[in-house]
Amino acid sequence: MHGWSGKILDIDLSSGSVETRPLDMEIARQFLGGRGLGARLLWDLVGPEVEPLSPENVLIFTTGPITASASQTSNRFNVSSKSPLTGTILHANSGGWWGMQFKRTGYDVLIVRGRAEKPSLIEITPDGVKIEDAGHLWGKGVFETTELLGQNRNKRNVMCIGPAGENLVRIAAIMNDGERALARGGPGAVMGSKNLKAIVVAGKEKNQPADKDQFKFMQYETGKLLKASPLTSQALPEFGTAVVMNVINEIGALPTRNFQQSQFEHADKISGEAITEEILVKNQACWACPITCTRISKTASGKEGEGPEFESAWAFGAQCGIDDLDLITEANFLCNDMGLDTISMGNTIGCAMELAERGLLDSDLRFGQAETLHDLIQDTAYRQGLGNELAEGSVRLAAKHGAPEIAMAVKGLELPAYDPRGMQGQGLVYATSNRGACHETGNMLGPEVLALPRLIDRFATQGKAGIVSVHQNSAAVIDSLVYCKFANMAVAEEFFARTLTAVTGEPYTADDLMKVGERVWNLERLYNLREGFTKEDDTLPDRLLNDPVVAGPSKGFTVNLAPMLVEYYQFRGWDENGVPKPEKL
Ligand code: SF4
Repeated sequence: MHGWSGKILDIDLSSGSVETRPLDMEIARQFLGGRGLGARLLWDLVGPEVEPLSPENVLIFTTGPITASASQTSNRFNVSSKSPLTGTILHANSGGWWGMQFKRTGYDVLIVRGRAEKPSLIEITPDGVKIEDAGHLWGKGVFETTELLGQNRNKRNVMCIGPAGENLVRIAAIMNDGERALARGGPGAVMGSKNLKAIVVAGKEKNQPADKDQFKFMQYETGKLLKASPLTSQALPEFGTAVVMNVINEIGALPTRNFQQSQFEHADKISGEAITEEILVKNQACWACPITCTRISKTASGKEGEGPEFESAWAFGAQCGIDDLDLITEANFLCNDMGLDTISMGNTIGCAMELAERGLLDSDLRFGQAETLHDLIQDTAYRQGLGNELAEGSVRLAAKHGAPEIAMAVKGLELPAYDPRGMQGQGLVYATSNRGACHETGNMLGPEVLALPRLIDRFATQGKAGIVSVHQNSAAVIDSLVYCKFANMAVAEEFFARTLTAVTGEPYTADDLMKVGERVWNLERLYNLREGFTKEDDTLPDRLLNDPVVAGPSKGFTVNLAPMLVEYYQFRGWDENGVPKPEKL
């Protein structure tokens, strides 16, 4: 294959049918792969009448044209579905090895439909595709399941759900390679609703570049850029993604105690520097990645595993007012084993802590109680006690206790680790992100904080709409190829286009890619509109719009969203109701 194998594996767990179908290459060229192709296929397969946890919902696993090519960070893959947490389009991507290995089975896409009668697993190998009984694995954690199914980094890779997915927890993740997560929006619950415990892949096919010399040259050029960038050659390898913890805290944009403050007095204790000094065993890379941002850590009690990344350290740290790095790290490990989205889990615990402190939730839970994390996470995965409420996510939790304004979420998805009152453009990103509040679909960390490509005023609103739109389109491109966003901190779209050309043999320019990004964004928008979402959903929690930051460098600021939204709709060529105009389709 040169980029695309041209094949979709389509499995219906209700009937047990296994079919290989051709991939429509016109659609592949328009949407590339990953998130874009997933959105396009989902558009046809899952309409507004489908309940997210019904057999009619689907899981669409997509690779991209560069997946498994050995271009730097070409390990990632995507899952698309309708979210049981938000009701919006769901897309999530993950690194590791599984995506590369699935591509090697000779398929671009795996569609899983229906619901198996009993716990099942899918195995895709050169010997064929099998649907097998997984009764002996049901109830087991991710780590044990992954090991029992024969995980072998470069040869055989396991993706599975943990107890959280089995118990239809709305913030459940799908875990691959034992430590990586397709996390946001509850894809693990969709997999659990299908009685599908695991998907094991082993392949032999190769994604051979059409132009080998040009591909090698692009690998060399990309390698040079990754080495030249202090972010990808020093900061991320040395301190991991949590390298930004102290930076974000310094500028007053680190959400603290459920966004009641925007600076955490103990941020240094949960920072990338602290992780490296106190618990880091080694750093690790996903397949074909020279950046090695992944942390393998060991706590004082001897527990060892992957993490914590920045978002997870924040979610169980500043968001919950907790500074115990060991217990934060163990909370991260437990989420990996239970199969839970760490951002939504930590955010929802923070929401529960505030509800309890305000006397709205009958519980002794308080901010700063590090020792409660373990039981809260485990109870969420098994839907026990208060955990049964946390399993529904922060929006349903806060609404149940009569205080919907305390849920820090957009379109039902919990906010990640940037307080937009200190980064106005980030507020617009959250409000307009198609899968709900998200830092991966157009993060403004680069221009508003890190001066990438140059520093802009983080408190300004005028002119932000254009920059946000370009960042969102660019993120959609990266997610569709599928590359890792950290590579994009050093490598521009122009280089990705040239690599894509070398792999597929078809000419692509950076402009072509950005058009794909815009197309993907508009299609996701249309999907949500078809589901009944409106411009009223392009908003932020009341606290961020109306409660000024009380202290620190962002003191006095709220998010001035309304004028940015008007400008945003205009820039995107949408009408005043946020509906893409016909010429944009
Ligand atoms: S930069 Fe980090 S997350 Fe991205 S591919 Fe490399 S190791 Fe994986």
